[in-house]
Amino acid sequence: MKTKDVVKLYEDYVLPTYAQIPVCLVKGKGAKVWDLEGKEYLDFFPGWAVSGLGHCHPKVVSAIKEQSRKILHISNNFLNLTQARLAERIVKESFPGRVFFCNSGAEAVEGAIKFARKFGSESGRYEIITMKNAFHGRTLAALTATGQKKYLEGFEPIPEGFKQAEFNNINSVKKMIGPKTIAVLLEPIQGEGGIHVADGDFLKELRKICREKKMLLILDEVQSGMGRTGKMFAYQHYNVEPDLMTLAKSLGSGVPIGALVVNNKVKNVLTPGMHASTFGGNPLVARAALAVFDVIKNERLLKNTQDMGDYLSTHLERLRHKFSFIKEVRGRGLMKGVELNISGKPIVDECRAFGLLINVTQDKVLRILPPMTVTKKQIDWAMGILEHAMLTITNTI
Ligand SMILES: *Cc1c(COP(=O)(O)O)cnc(C)c1O
Repeated sequence: MKTKDVVKLYEDYVLPTYAQIPVCLVKGKGAKVWDLEGKEYLDFFPGWAVSGLGHCHPKVVSAIKEQSRKILHISNNFLNLTQARLAERIVKESFPGRVFFCNSGAEAVEGAIKFARKFGSESGRYEIITMKNAFHGRTLAALTATGQKKYLEGFEPIPEGFKQAEFNNINSVKKMIGPKTIAVLLEPIQGEGGIHVADGDFLKELRKICREKKMLLILDEVQSGMGRTGKMFAYQHYNVEPDLMTLAKSLGSGVPIGALVVNNKVKNVLTPGMHASTFGGNPLVARAALAVFDVIKNERLLKNTQDMGDYLSTHLERLRHKFSFIKEVRGRGLMKGVELNISGKPIVDECRAFGLLINVTQDKVLRILPPMTVTKKQIDWAMGILEHAMLTITNTI
């Protein structure tokens, strides 16, 4: 089988919902992946920020192996030891509260939206304020929370009760708060929106307003959570705690798992029967996520993420001085965005040709999210390729 045969299978049998790159990845180890023809790539955007520990981390693989010999799935009507232990672990790493498990980021956000509405139902409040340029997933309510017209067109009618304020503009949020507002939902670092980092004052002020008005502060950490920014959760940079937090992407470093974490003040809002997910937190994925927490701790990956994040910044700043089409370098830890004043796709394609996988979002922002296990040597290698790609592009514009 060759890549072109896989392309044909897709053409014949898979719904074309993705803009697809004609590369078939079949093997991964750490920061490296290989395609069907055996070409090697350095992966600085592993699995759309899912494989946070890199591909096939041996501890995650052996946890999955071990668990798969015992039991893969049980219904959530029975007690699940791995799920209970994972919930304990998440709470101990974040804030006193309770956890609901699901399978994806959108599902975690959807859970947060239902939770907020239920919380507001007694006082007749249901409106949720979200931010421009946000991304919260593709289910109908999460998509409405995302609020980008291009994603919503043709899918109307959309759910009611969402308003959009400007990110990092507290007055814009204040103006939207009305008698029906129940929550503010945002990403501490906007990922798909182009790696925009929330200002400390903005988050602190949001926290204060939500407390005063008995509204919920919901932080979507689906992309920024699980060590990505150098702290376990991005909000921990701010001395601000959310009421609700959503997790997914690298929570299982490769297996599909999402979570909604709710603080103790509101933990009694949902009672048995009000919300559910058949696969949510099953023994297999919960066991993988437990291994992820262990690896982050035992291999001191938060420290490595901070150090390698700084190291990567130095490289990117050097490139910014060299290439006039680089506008700005942003981000925290190993969640970096490089804003260009030209389209980023040719650079991403050029990088891939030379064996480096990165991403572009919002047309002009290169997104670089290497695994938390990345080394200096790998960063040097990757930045060599990026520089080369940028030089090539310079010669063609
Ligand atoms: C990716 C993402 C989602 C959606 O996650 P899915 O698993 O694709 O449903 C939600 N919120 C944020 C911040 C994300 O980055």
